[in-house]
Amino acid sequence: MGTDEGLRAAECFHPSDEEIEKWMDDAFDTAKDALENGEVPVGCLMVYSNQVIGKGRNEVNETKNATRHAEMVALDQLLAWCRHSNLDVSSVCERTALYVTVEPCIMCAAALRLLNIPVVVYGCRNERFGGCGSVLDVSSASLPQTGSTFKCVSGHRAEEAVEMLKTFYKQENPNGDQNLSLLLFLLSSPLLSSLFSSPRLIFSYISSLVSSFLLLSDFCFYAVSQELFINFFFAILSFLPFLYITS
Ligand SMILES: [Zn+2]
Repeated sequence: MGTDEGLRAAECFHPSDEEIEKWMDDAFDTAKDALENGEVPVGCLMVYSNQVIGKGRNEVNETKNATRHAEMVALDQLLAWCRHSNLDVSSVCERTALYVTVEPCIMCAAALRLLNIPVVVYGCRNERFGGCGSVLDVSSASLPQTGSTFKCVSGHRAEEAVEMLKTFYKQENPNGDQNLSLLLFLLSSPLLSSLFSSPRLIFSYISSLVSSFLLLSDFCFYAVSQELFINFFFAILSFLPFLYITS
């Protein structure tokens, strides 16, 4: 099937609300499985002619392979299914919808585009790596010789998808221990400085404060949280005796 014909297929191909609900339920279950197995909670399905021919969740940690995103896992299954069913990959892809809980990243969006997948239904936006408009618009940009543009239907259960990501990043972030050690470090620094009576220590103190803050804000990217504010509050609080001592 040529690209023009593929584009026409894409134009008249739009999943119904019922289909979106049904398949996204399944994609969310797959994402939960990822979460339970210590992976970034993203799950997806590839549906052709009302049949799931590819299903995947993130397998990055398990395989130690940064490219094993949910979409890539599902695409491999789609390719295997085509081989097994003796069907042409291009004509299957041009009639396959992808359902995924988080906006595909730039890499995955490019792969979907090259394979002429016509429709992508996703939950929440991917502000860091999104290839469907959040960072780059691989889905609809005019790029010659790179497959066809695809349609995006976004926002289905977006809040739930974000919550799952937050849960994952909170689990990953050993904030409890980290907060305690940071607090102890911050409180001990003014004491040490006063013992050595060295004003130069103020610079190392400030720089360690700033770097701890930056480190924590990065850890808390998805979980912009009370914890960050609590750390910041303690940082300010612990700075006060230092000013008193040096004045
Ligand atoms: Zn990806």
